[in-house]
Parts: sequence; C-alpha cells; structure tokens
Amino acid sequence: MAVERTLSIIKPDAVAKNVIGQIYTRFESNGLKIVASRMKWLSQHEAEAFYAVHKERPFFKDLVKYMISGPVQIQVLEGENAIMKNRELMGATDPAKAEKGTIRAEFGKSIEANAVHGSDSPETAATEIAFFFPRMDIYSR
Ligand code: ADP
Ligand code: MG
Repeated sequence: MAVERTLSIIKPDAVAKNVIGQIYTRFESNGLKIVASRMKWLSQHEAEAFYAVHKERPFFKDLVKYMISGPVQIQVLEGENAIMKNRELMGATDPAKAEKGTIRAEFGKSIEANAVHGSDSPETAATEIAFFFPRMDIYSR
C-alpha cells in the first residue's frame, strides 16, 4: 500500500448541521491526516466545473444548485490507501443504502444531500486536489 492523497468535501447539508468536527474525527481516527483545509462558498461556475464529469446526467442541475446552497468544507486527506479508505468511511452514494456507521449513513439526508464528496481514483484525486489547493498550501507531516 502507498501513501496517497485524496480530496474530501463536507457538503452544504453537513456543514449546516454543524458536524464538521464529527466528520473530521472519523478521518483522524481512521488513519487519515488533514493536510490542507478551507471553507468556501462555491460559485455556480466553480460547482459546474468541479462536477463537469456529470454534466450530462439528469441530476446535474440540481446537484450544482445544492452544492452552492451554502458553504462547504474542503480538505486534502493523506494516508495509506487514502482514496479507497475515504470511500469506505463515506459509504454508498445513497445514504439509505450506505453501510451502518458510515458518514453518509449517519449524516446524509438523501442521494443528493449525502454529506460528503470523496475522489474515486488517483487520477481524479490529483485533478480535484489541484482544483482547490496550490501545492504550497498542502502540509504533509
Ligand atoms: P459519489 O459522490 O458517491 O462518487 P457520483 O459521483 O455518482 O457519487 O455522484 C456525484 C454526486 O451527485 C453524489 O454524491 C450526489 O450528491 C449526486 N447524485 C448522484 N446520483 C444522484 C441521483 N440519482 N440523484 C440525485 N443526485 C445524485
Ligand atoms: Mg463521484
């Protein structure tokens, strides 16, 4: 296994629920270090660009609207197998189908408002991290 970095976003519904700390604890207690972090209210243009891979999907417009409905908390997580580890901690896209104890099962509201985003491959992790963080703002330790 290799040390990897992945991009995580705590989405507007979870930020509004005041559970940033509880979600950060999940990362930290499962071997993922927060090596960069910022809160940001995305513009429509930014949300559309971030989710560009989904632009042909029927839910794209609503997804963008939801992602700009309030501030999000964005972080880079680093650790062994970080990309898949984070996806495991998140659970399935639909909170109703996510395994008990996962972040989405516990904090997600719906298939759209599902509390967190996580990169799904080394390629998307690299692209998504670069989208939000210049290299100089990422602090490995
Ligand atoms: P994941 O976030 O688990 O990688 P996807 O990349 O497939 O899932 O979708 C991106 C985001 O789009 C999801 O996290 C969710 O917020 C939203 N989404 C996915 N599928 C649907 C759907 N069928 N209806 C509404 N929103 C959806
Ligand atoms: Mg995805």
